[in-house]
Amino acid sequence: MVMRQEVQTTLIQDVIARVEEKDPGQPEFHQAVREIMGSLAPTVERHPEFVKAKIYDRIVVPDRVIMFRVPWVDDQGEVQVNRGYRVQFNNAIGPYKGGLRFHPSVNLGIIKFLGFEQIFKNSLTTLAMGGAKGGADFEPKGKSDGEVMRFCQAFMGELYRHIGPDTDVPAGDIGVGGREIGYLYGYYKKIVNEHASTLTGKGLEYGGSLIRPEATGYGAVYFADEMLKTRGIEMRGKVAAVSGAGNVAQYTIEKLNQMGARPISISDSDGTIIDEEGIDEEKLGYIMDLKNVRRGRIKEYVNHYRSTYYPGESVWDVIRDHNLQVDLAFPSATQNEIDEAEAYALVQNGCFLVSEGANMPSTPSAIQVYQTYKVLYGPAKAANAGGVATSGLEMAQNSMRLSWSRAEVDDRLHKIMRDIHQACLDAADAYGCPGDYLVGANIAGFLKVANAMLAYGIV
Ligand code: NDP
Repeated sequence: MVMRQEVQTTLIQDVIARVEEKDPGQPEFHQAVREIMGSLAPTVERHPEFVKAKIYDRIVVPDRVIMFRVPWVDDQGEVQVNRGYRVQFNNAIGPYKGGLRFHPSVNLGIIKFLGFEQIFKNSLTTLAMGGAKGGADFEPKGKSDGEVMRFCQAFMGELYRHIGPDTDVPAGDIGVGGREIGYLYGYYKKIVNEHASTLTGKGLEYGGSLIRPEATGYGAVYFADEMLKTRGIEMRGKVAAVSGAGNVAQYTIEKLNQMGARPISISDSDGTIIDEEGIDEEKLGYIMDLKNVRRGRIKEYVNHYRSTYYPGESVWDVIRDHNLQVDLAFPSATQNEIDEAEAYALVQNGCFLVSEGANMPSTPSAIQVYQTYKVLYGPAKAANAGGVATSGLEMAQNSMRLSWSRAEVDDRLHKIMRDIHQACLDAADAYGCPGDYLVGANIAGFLKVANAMLAYGIV
């Protein structure tokens, strides 16, 4: 038995070591590969056919990486140049699918980490979608609408030749919301002369789906509720910490309120607001106007509601430094936002559930803390899969040229989140790690993709 385990571990370690050697300077991608491959060890012994076909070695290499120049002209008439990316990672189970991120930190390693995660997440949704991700090192904050439009047009001026309704269907992510999708899709439609389902997150007037804006946040709360049920605990009355102030954070707060919980925090990259009375529907309306329409900073909240603003601190810093008691945590800003010390402080302050709205928001050592203290831990690829699942529902509606009602899409989303939760538990059980959602999500997502890759032979 010991020998077998060693063989599994060696094979996986070799794959990880090769990635680190061949793809240097991509720490986030290495982190994602270590996290996912690390939990696939139990599949190695059961599936010699995967080993023979080198599925483990093949799955960590993208099908295709596209990098391009994005030149555009700012409001002062200056020429600006950004770097654009699309990583088409794996289309074994369906057309490539995954968001576009516009943020100054974007580089190839970050897009590869997101694209790699997306393979397993999309598989978990049970819909036919492969994994991809893209974006640019463009900063939309502080830009005029005209500048954002010209950038989006320049970006799509190259991307359009690589995407299509049956090839690759991008969506939003950090810095790409309704406004950006409108500009991107408008330009795509003009140059290919087709009204096709090539982007999701579209406006309702031109092919979008009801509930798509809400889906990631709602899904993260539905997933949390399923985890709570396994311990017979109710969501009602629980105090929740939420980070970020964008799409995912906003609708996480909305659903938490609807389910009777009390969200008490919100943040952006400048600082954190704590409102211990709870951010209710009316206050959330203010935040949505501030962030989505006026494009202001979260610190303005203190001018309107009794609350405290902590400049330069994340939600997790504030919990650690001020011993703020919370029951539930919904990290919804960005990768690696919770480190080991912050995870430990969360646990010490009463937190017993983490449901990840953001992608890879917890460092590996933070995840260790959750596991040591038996925190109910919903990893991103399961907990935030509601967004891409509803994008899949948008594609289905576009293909049928039909629009489902709000209730119908929400019911489907809720069912998908329940099914993902169960699939994680079943896979974790079947592979000897009962109750471990991380291992369960990785294995359940992997098996379908691996079997499809096997069926195709060596391609
Ligand atoms: P938005 O751009 O709408 O909001 C992002 C929020 O996070 C903003 O408040 C932003 O603050 C903050 N933020 C971003 N980067 C940092 C940083 N480096 N440090 C501190 N705060 C930061 O993005 P989304 O809400 O769409 O995405 C949030 C997370 O959820 C990301 O990890 C994304 O990959 C993930 N996700 C999103 C999905 C979706 O459907 N939108 C689907 C699945 C996952 P500021 O405005 O100051 O930059």
